[in-house]
Amino acid sequence: MSLRLRLTLLYTTLLGGVLLIFGALVYGLVSLILLDQIDNSLSQATDHLIAQLRVNIAGQVDPRSIAIIQPTDNLLFQIWGKDDALQLAHPPGLQTPLDPIGQLTGQPVFHSILSQNTHRRVLSVPLRTEKGPIGVLQAAMDLKMVDITQRTLASVLILLTILVMGLSGLAAWLITRQALAPLATVTQVATQITKADDLSRRIPVTSTRSDEVGQLIQAFNQTLERLEQLFNAQRRFLADVSHELRTPLTVIKGNVGLMRKIGEMDEESMNGIEAEVDRLTRLVGDLLLINQAEAGKLPLDKRPVELDTVLLEVFQQMRMLAGERINLRLVDIDQVLVTGDRDRLKQVLVNLVGNALQYTPAGGTVNLALRKVGERAQLIVSDTGTGISPQDLPHIFERFYRNEKSRKRQGSTSGFGLGLSIAYWIVNNHDGTIEVTSQEGKGSTFCVWLPLSH
Ligand code: ADP
Repeated sequence: MSLRLRLTLLYTTLLGGVLLIFGALVYGLVSLILLDQIDNSLSQATDHLIAQLRVNIAGQVDPRSIAIIQPTDNLLFQIWGKDDALQLAHPPGLQTPLDPIGQLTGQPVFHSILSQNTHRRVLSVPLRTEKGPIGVLQAAMDLKMVDITQRTLASVLILLTILVMGLSGLAAWLITRQALAPLATVTQVATQITKADDLSRRIPVTSTRSDEVGQLIQAFNQTLERLEQLFNAQRRFLADVSHELRTPLTVIKGNVGLMRKIGEMDEESMNGIEAEVDRLTRLVGDLLLINQAEAGKLPLDKRPVELDTVLLEVFQQMRMLAGERINLRLVDIDQVLVTGDRDRLKQVLVNLVGNALQYTPAGGTVNLALRKVGERAQLIVSDTGTGISPQDLPHIFERFYRNEKSRKRQGSTSGFGLGLSIAYWIVNNHDGTIEVTSQEGKGSTFCVWLPLSH
């Protein structure tokens, strides 16, 4: 069943239910008022009759007092004596009791009686003197008018309910068509996107649309945007990886070929092969790590870690890499204990310092600092390198993201755009944060915050 039909049915049923309840209340109230009026008239009529009745010495209703009663046209009544003998009936042909049960109750009682296709309201009033009961007076009025009024009211209410339900159903059907029309457009465009395999398409959204459908379209467009970015990044990455793989393989093949040609082990060729194999190993390692991390399967062996010792290790290791080319300095180092996976935290440092050295030209400086700030450890890696452009800055922690210059750069030290996303993932999983500020041409500062261990 379509959403449109469901909404229309729901709306119409709800409205119909409310109208039915309302109609039943009106019907009940009107019936009560009408019957109450009849009952009042009957009470007045019996009071009037009783006031005219006299009792004879035998303790019975005096026939002479009965004789002078002037009955009104629309009122029927019977006076029954003590021995259930009918003493007076109006009209005279009314011989059977108006209300056989009311005759026996011994107290005034109203009953609605249907006899011989006539619907009447009957009031039975016991007649009594100080000596005891002497008979029963029964008075009745025809309920024909009340029945007609009730029937008419019921028909009007039912017809009105059906009419209102029909009209509101039609209105709901038309309104929902208008309201849901943009959804049909969304479905159409989404199908076209799938068929054409074209993620660059967007669903047109009118600027005035700020309702739920407008929000849905915007959210859908954002999803498309994100998907497009991801697909582009993956496509670029595949192209890069194939390229990166081809270069070292060509170098290795060339060196092996050279050695075969000259018929001896050549030291330079061996070094070349080793460097390229290292690079390939690094690529495979990074890919494996990212894959495990994304699948949530990367185990972190968390225990107390002296972050200052790790920083010192990385500093020693990286000093060799920096050599004379870059001035790598340790400007500040507090004793800091954090809880975490030592190897992974070291990897964060290696990635950050490695990047700083890589993107800093000869003669530049890279400063490292580790401080305690409140309940957190602050680790800073700042360089005087190329800096990161404002366009690249929001994306550098994304997987496979490398700016144009980095991608053009070749050689055994160039990265794959995975280092920072790995660092980001590791820091995040240590309840920490990683921040970056950068100025193009002046340098970048990466700051890692980690909670101290107690
Ligand atoms: P890569 O392996 O290419 O270095 P990363 O994920 O480590 O990948 O870094 C992503 C991108 O961020 C780099 O390609 C580079 O453009 C930029 N970047 C990272 N660190 C620095 C830095 N210290 N200075 C300038 N650019 C940087």
